[in-house]
Amino acid sequence: MQNLISQQLPGTKIGFISSDIDRRADLRSDSGAILTYRQSDSARFIGISGDAVASRDQKPDYDRPFAPAGEVETIFLGLDAGLDPWFAYRANSAVPTLALRPILLGGLLPEVELSRFAQARSLVHWHERHGFCANCGAPTTMQDAGYRRQCPACKAEHFPRTDPVVIMVAMHGGAILLGRQAAWPEGMYSALAGFMEPGETIEQAVIRETWEEAGVRVRDVRYIASQPWPFPASLMIGVHAVAEERSLHVDGNELQDARWFERDEINLMLNRKHPGNLYAANPYAIAHHLIGQAIEHV
Ligand SMILES: [Zn+2]
Repeated sequence: MQNLISQQLPGTKIGFISSDIDRRADLRSDSGAILTYRQSDSARFIGISGDAVASRDQKPDYDRPFAPAGEVETIFLGLDAGLDPWFAYRANSAVPTLALRPILLGGLLPEVELSRFAQARSLVHWHERHGFCANCGAPTTMQDAGYRRQCPACKAEHFPRTDPVVIMVAMHGGAILLGRQAAWPEGMYSALAGFMEPGETIEQAVIRETWEEAGVRVRDVRYIASQPWPFPASLMIGVHAVAEERSLHVDGNELQDARWFERDEINLMLNRKHPGNLYAANPYAIAHHLIGQAIEHV
């Protein structure tokens, strides 16, 4: 299924939304089929080490991991458009790697390739941290080709997690609300965002986060699109919302600053032509497109 943003803005550089992998969940419990795919000449392997991809000669290295079969847990990602099987594994930290963020920022690889990395990176990260049962502490084993871990001691099952994050652009009259964190590059402003909490709806999380971070009351939350964000396993849920007023109270903790920007200024920021060198998130991030669509509606 095409993501809404890629439908509305064809050719955009938004990251991680264009995977061609058919995940084939029906094959995961068929260990014979998975082993046949793993041993086939067409099998491709994505090695992940932290936020980086195993590489050779400054390109991703899709050869099988350098270790005897069975010594490296391999996760079945699925079949690509040409029906070649793809796997992910935890790469030895000694192998050369390419860091994902510069690849993303530089547009150095086709988007379809980058999107496969998102699935691989989030899954490998989860396995790295779930070698022991959260219920009883016993070592767990990988099952379902990497989509489940099983505890042999207490029989608990553990499943890969995705962490939902709401990311929102509040609008009021002809202006939209953006903020910046102290750690961001100088001049960058973006949509406010925060992790959803247990027991919340998307709408409640948006209302709570906008109030906590900027002291702004919002309503009429409207879903726009989503983006997987594999640092390590978030799902960005992009929305627009209507603010009740323009008063601000920046918390100073999560945000260093928040401001209301008028449409003309936002246009300059999106196009990197702002006289004060302010700019609005990079095109690979969903925030850029939420902001671009918002100013068409304010
Ligand atoms: Zn257990």
